[in-house]
Amino acid sequence: SHLISERTQELQLSLTLEISARAKLLKKEGKDICSLSAGEPDFDTPNYIVNAAIEALRNGITRYGPAAGDPELREAIAQKLTTSNNVPSKAENILITNGGKQAIFNLFQIILNPGDEVLIPSPYWLSYPEIAKLAGAIPVPLHTSPKDGFKLSSEKLEEKITNRTKLLILNSPCNPTGRVIQKEELISIAEVLRRNKQLLVMTDEIYEYLISENESHHSLAAIAPDLRERIFIVNGFAKAWAMTGWRIGYLAGPKEFIKTAIALQSQSTSNVCSFAQRGALAALLGPKESIKTMSRSYNERREILTKGLNSINGISLIPQKGAFYAFPELAPSLPNSLSFCKLALEKVGLAIIPGIAFGEDRCVRLSCAVSEDTIKEGIARLEKLITQLI
Ligand code: PLP
Repeated sequence: SHLISERTQELQLSLTLEISARAKLLKKEGKDICSLSAGEPDFDTPNYIVNAAIEALRNGITRYGPAAGDPELREAIAQKLTTSNNVPSKAENILITNGGKQAIFNLFQIILNPGDEVLIPSPYWLSYPEIAKLAGAIPVPLHTSPKDGFKLSSEKLEEKITNRTKLLILNSPCNPTGRVIQKEELISIAEVLRRNKQLLVMTDEIYEYLISENESHHSLAAIAPDLRERIFIVNGFAKAWAMTGWRIGYLAGPKEFIKTAIALQSQSTSNVCSFAQRGALAALLGPKESIKTMSRSYNERREILTKGLNSINGISLIPQKGAFYAFPELAPSLPNSLSFCKLALEKVGLAIIPGIAFGEDRCVRLSCAVSEDTIKEGIARLEKLITQLI
């Protein structure tokens, strides 16, 4: 309708959610569907976290809370950033949000003006450009290639910077590619930032703990402490603690920006669910075993998925070390990602996500947050489909 605002006229429902919904519907109709489309952990939230939230409910933590978030949770996150990420922080640097997604939304609202450009390395998590557009900004993709394992060159980055560029987004480990940005790359990116003083950076570190054992996660803010005044960290509890439905994330950054983000929160969502925040606090303060167990399990299954994909002709993959996805490239003789994924669903009952959703039409995304048997069945179906198509 023309009565819908110009800002939201073009807004699309997330394609990943759409494909998962279609796969679920087919399954319900009795079709034999194998889904590797999941974008969330297949574990339940660990018990000690659930119990903390139940206890909070019983103790009357059922009222409005501060817009900035539960003071103890803000403090615990500041501690975590200080000690485990080497990013010295205080509670005043933290805003608790409804998932990492709202942290991104709030940040974009408070820093972007209409016409500002946001540099987004592609393939990217599909919500970044949409959230940037909602703030009136212009998303500018920065192409990285499957052939280079999606490595971001700092020269190419610098070439794309104009006098309108306001924000650079970094996401490591990356959804959809699984790529982990190396320390040396962050060092060269920091150099580019030192030469371009108007540029702000958001580092989305939501998959920080989902990383193979011989890799380490580095936060740009730790590598370049002199740039702290321009760096914003987005993180959350969804992926590492299997808490997607709890909707708890956070934005960390310089105090003055956080103050404005808190004001925005106070005029939009008021605060994040109070007892859910007590669960998040328990997650942070509790034993790290459950994170390690889950992370190990994704690592094993990522390897199985990688091996499986590498055994198929017609698809190629440079192995990656983080998150729970693989993002292989389709051979030139195969159709583009959307047609390919539609054929996969129709012909072999395989649900996977077309790369076009992430800005790369020659790749598809497969998730390993499913059982080993499902991964193996998925690989078999993919091979069958490709044999038919090539
Ligand atoms: N960032 C990335 C890269 C993601 O993949 C996701 C979720 O899929 C999010 C942020 C948002 O997570 P949530 O809002 O569930 O905390």
